[in-house]
Amino acid sequence: MTFKELGLDEYIVKAVEELGFEKPSPIQEESIPLLITGDKDYVGLAQTGTGKTAAFGLPMIQQIDTNSKAIQGMILCPTRELCLQITNELKLYAKHTKGIKVVAVYGGASISDQIREIKSGVNIMVGTPGRTIDLMERRVLKFDEVKTVVLDEADEMLNMGFKEDITKIIEQTPPSKHTWLFSATMPKEVERIAKNYMTDPVRVTVGTKNSSAANIEHQYCAVAGRDQYDALRRFIDVAPGMYGIVFCRTRRETKEFADKLMADGYNADALHGDLSQAQRDSVMAKFRNRNLQVLIATDVAARGIDVDDLTHVFHVDLPDEIESYTHRSGRTARAGKSGRSIALVSPSKASRVRLVEKQIGGKMELIQVPTGKEICFQQLMSVIQNVKKVEINEKGLAPYIAQIHEEFADVSKEEIIERFVSLEFNRFIKDYEKARDLNIDMSTMRKGRDRGERGDRKRGDNTTRNTNRLFINIGKMDGFENKGQILGFICNQTGVDGNSIGKIDLFDSFAFIGVDDNVGNTLINSLNGRNIENRDIRIEFSKDKPKGERGERRDRGGDRGGYKGGGDRGGNRRERTSSRSSFKRERRS
Ligand code: AMP
Repeated sequence: MTFKELGLDEYIVKAVEELGFEKPSPIQEESIPLLITGDKDYVGLAQTGTGKTAAFGLPMIQQIDTNSKAIQGMILCPTRELCLQITNELKLYAKHTKGIKVVAVYGGASISDQIREIKSGVNIMVGTPGRTIDLMERRVLKFDEVKTVVLDEADEMLNMGFKEDITKIIEQTPPSKHTWLFSATMPKEVERIAKNYMTDPVRVTVGTKNSSAANIEHQYCAVAGRDQYDALRRFIDVAPGMYGIVFCRTRRETKEFADKLMADGYNADALHGDLSQAQRDSVMAKFRNRNLQVLIATDVAARGIDVDDLTHVFHVDLPDEIESYTHRSGRTARAGKSGRSIALVSPSKASRVRLVEKQIGGKMELIQVPTGKEICFQQLMSVIQNVKKVEINEKGLAPYIAQIHEEFADVSKEEIIERFVSLEFNRFIKDYEKARDLNIDMSTMRKGRDRGERGDRKRGDNTTRNTNRLFINIGKMDGFENKGQILGFICNQTGVDGNSIGKIDLFDSFAFIGVDDNVGNTLINSLNGRNIENRDIRIEFSKDKPKGERGERRDRGGDRGGYKGGGDRGGNRRERTSSRSSFKRERRS
């Protein structure tokens, strides 16, 4: 079949011929005759590279009434890069069709330029959901005359968390419009969109139907919060060709992990909300070019990441919003490839494993943090493979080869091999010769798992048991908005199970924590002297009586000032700072 035979007009045929397209690709051959009529909803299962942009772009161009300056065609896509790519292609296809105006609408570029362009009249808008919503809410973009909505790479848009934005945009288009959805995979959420927003869509599949979930290995290991960094390093080291993203929950954690990895010699960098657009672009360019092996990112910052070939996604603890897990893990195993999603789960977050399993509709496999021996073995194999693969530049070596042979004349082949391997490999032996086991016993994890949503009640029960109270010099002013957050922090950092912790009294600049007999010293040993926001944590046994007695009233009084010492009741056992403001200053310094 030719493009002409598909029903395309002569101007469009001329443009594609000039682009060197000799004949329609399979998806074009099947879809163009269906879409050109403009009276159907459509679902196309196709990956990038199949020619899908022309499959929807050519019929869309043909339908535009160039006498109208209103938006008649809307294309939503997940990323800035794709948005620009589609826009450029459509402009080329419409080269000979007079009066067609195509505009790209995407974040991170001047909004006023885009507003000016839109105001001069647009027929086809190609947009990323965020900026489209923004301009829609400013009433710059008006969708009352839209005839066709294309959702391109729908699975990716959902992976990136754009579901609500897409819904909001579609709701602003007239009911008479038709929707054409393109997706490389067909997870349940995409099916749901097809069901909710389309009427009896025609379905076209090109290539094999694959589900993103099927290609991802979902795994987790149980490690104490304080060991998460070491565990991450081991997973990176055990997979020499690894190329991936590490998701952290906060900007602070993101920076910390990136700084540590860089200090330890990894090609890593951070992507988080404190960076300017230019800094983000620079980090992303390095990552895309593989100058970075590991990107450490927050969920929000990683939204637009569209890098293929990622082998791993790591989660430094499972996210607070379970939905984010799917968005995160969907960064790997794209375009039919496979990938691993590995969560480093601390005991206090163990109950989330079950919630994630519910979300992905499958099991997460419990795996062990690699041992030093496993890492050394993998690294050794990698060195050997690299030696085997390297091309010998005989011409370049020629002037030196005699000298080289002479230098090695007295060294046996076996010794040369051992020496070359050691050159690369000694670092790993040194790093890992005394590596301890970072895995936490599953029974501790299970306790956390069982606690689940009923954790608070159980903790309440514990207050009758834990008669010891600890004083800790962190509180609401350090960002802990509620008792749950400080509990999470403590469990995370120490590996202590939340069930061993009882009543927590949280104040502005400090907190009291009820603990079981055997746990107090563990918390003190693990937390004392640790640093939070440039301040050293101090934790010690409080000699105040537990809840409900005079001690509690005193605690409340303490809310007005920083508590500076332990000691027992009366006299000068506590020194308070003269005012809270001085304490704040001390903290910021
Ligand atoms: P897409 O799947 O839309 O990203 O297209 C992949 C690439 O194939 C783009 O560079 C298109 O310009 C090109 N392309 C699309 N249709 C054809 C065709 N019929 N013949 C040759 N190249 C094509």
